[in-house]
Parts: sequence; structure tokens; C-alpha cells
Amino acid sequence: MIQTKGYATHDPSATFSPFEFERRDVGPNDILIDIEYAGICHSDIHLAKDEWHDLMPAMYPMVPGHEIVGRVTQVGDAVTKFSVGDVAGIGCFIDSCRECVACGFGVEQYCMNGMAMTYNGTEMDRTTPTYGGYSKHYVIDENYALKVTADGDLSGVAPLLCAGITTYSPLKKFGVGPGQRVGVVGLGGLGHMAVKIAKAMGAEVTVFSTSPGKAEDAGKLGADNFVVTSDPENLAPLANSFNLIIDTVSANHDLNPYINMVGLNGVLVVVGMPELPATIHQASLIMGNKSIAGSLIGGIAETQEMLDFCAEHGVVADVEVISPDRIEEAYDRTIKADVRYRFVIDMGRA
Ligand SMILES: [Zn+2]
Ligand SMILES: [Zn+2]
Repeated sequence: MIQTKGYATHDPSATFSPFEFERRDVGPNDILIDIEYAGICHSDIHLAKDEWHDLMPAMYPMVPGHEIVGRVTQVGDAVTKFSVGDVAGIGCFIDSCRECVACGFGVEQYCMNGMAMTYNGTEMDRTTPTYGGYSKHYVIDENYALKVTADGDLSGVAPLLCAGITTYSPLKKFGVGPGQRVGVVGLGGLGHMAVKIAKAMGAEVTVFSTSPGKAEDAGKLGADNFVVTSDPENLAPLANSFNLIIDTVSANHDLNPYINMVGLNGVLVVVGMPELPATIHQASLIMGNKSIAGSLIGGIAETQEMLDFCAEHGVVADVEVISPDRIEEAYDRTIKADVRYRFVIDMGRA
């Protein structure tokens, strides 16, 4: 076994302290990654505080982190994709059954037998607990690791492994490209990635936000338009005018104004998970052949495609890099939406 160190919380207080644990030895198909950066995703906070108890109960001690980049320092005998010295990434899952329909289609995130989560889960043996990226090392099967070709500072690459793929996948699936109008609801960790990726795909991008103070930032991120949603008068002229609207907000809110702004054959994609169910007017979907869709991260092949796309277009997340002793402060500020736009832990300082 390989001795390593991470930062764990032992209960829903989400108080983090150094935690010594073991990774498995590098098997024939495995690579060992020295983790350099781990992003702080809002779902880390929900899981650490056991706020998603009914959906995914917390398993303590918990080492969160599923936005991981680092350097490959050891490869197994049968490894073909990676060499020592390569930069590798790990996203939200580290294995799946490899036999079901979903795995066959390369959408392992929907594995019918349950994917192996990067943390707060188990390996496919269903007994060995998984620990995430707030740690110094990870051992992973090469088929579930991603190649990172972007050069330069890697801190902004880490959030692509969750926030990047969550927004890239539906934008790609629904054919976003030049000449299209895309709306992005909410300018947080996910929203700011949606803006950058939709722009890189060639679309005209409008940000919808409740915070007028984010207008300047939206422009800096590349958005063409900014709309404050609190005044319905701002939305009325935009009826039926978007090819796609991606809704990244996880607070309870009304979807109907956004359905109204989606145009003929358009789609509203939801990637946030509010607590309360939404109520919609069926007529507003029927009149205009509109759709509502959901989307969960992406499969390994698509995540690789997203990383390559972002490297080619120079797309990275806007990040605030912190040392591991500031995780709790970063959680508090993320909850208050006081981050532009993702905290990333520098594991080199662990
Ligand atoms: Zn995430
Ligand atoms: Zn499967």
C-alpha cells in the first residue's frame, strides 16, 4: 500500500484536519498521480455537511475533491495512455461496471450498476472506501483518468473536471455553435464555465443573474449581454429568442420565465438541483416544440474531448488558489457566493 496524506472531515461540521491513509499499490492498469490542485465544488460542501443525506449519505472520514489535476509519477506494466511526467486529471468517478448499456455507450456517469465515486463511495468491490482529491496522491485505472494537454498554470484546469464537463456536455449535445443564442442562468462556478465554453463554441451569450453587480464580470468572461432577472420587464422582450438556455442555479426558482425565452425547437437544460420540484406550464412547451432536459457531468471520452477543446481554445476556470489550511474559510465563502469563481486547493502546500 502507498501511504499518503489528505484533509478529512469526520462529521457534518465539515471541519478539516490532516488525515493519513493508504492508496492501493499501482496495479498493471493503474497510474499514480501526485496531486497538484483540487477544486472545491459546491457538491463537496453538500456531501461534507451530509446535506444530501437521502440521495448520497455522507461516509466519514471524508476526503472530498473531484476536480483533480496532477503529475503522473508511476505507471503500471500494462498502461498505454500515460507516461511518467504526464499531467493527468480525475473527475467525479474513478470506475464503473464496464458491462452495462450506459458503460457500453461511453456514458459511464449513468452506469446502471452505479459508478465508483471519486470520494464518499467505494471501489467497484463495494467495500473499499474512496477518498478524493484533497490529498497528495491518487491511484486510478488509466481508463478512468484524463490526459491534460494544456500547458502553463494548471490551477484553472482542475475545475474543468466537474464544472467544465457539466456545462460542456449539454452545450455540445444540443449543437451550440456560431449564429446561436445561448442563455446562462446564474453566474457562479458552473455559470462562468458555461459562458466561456459557449463563447468558445461561437455562440452569442447572455447571462441571467439576480446580482446587478456581476454585469462587469460577465462582460470580462466574454458574455455579450447581461440581464438582471429580478425585473420581469427585462425578460419580456426576450421571449422566444434563445436556442438554448442552461440553468445552473441550485436555489429554488421559477423555470417558466426561462421556458418562455427559449425559442422554437429550443431547449432549457437544468444542471442545478434545487430542493423543491419545479412547476411548469405544459402549454409553454407545446407552443414552440420546446424541451426541458437534464444533464449530469459527462463520460470519460466526452470529458477528454472537453479538456482537449478547452486546451485548444485557452479556456480555464477563474480561480482563487488557497492552501489546504483554508478549506473551511473557502467553504464559508462559497456558500455566500463570495468567490470568483472557484476555489482551488494547492496540494503542493500540503
Ligand atoms: Zn462537482
Ligand atoms: Zn456500467
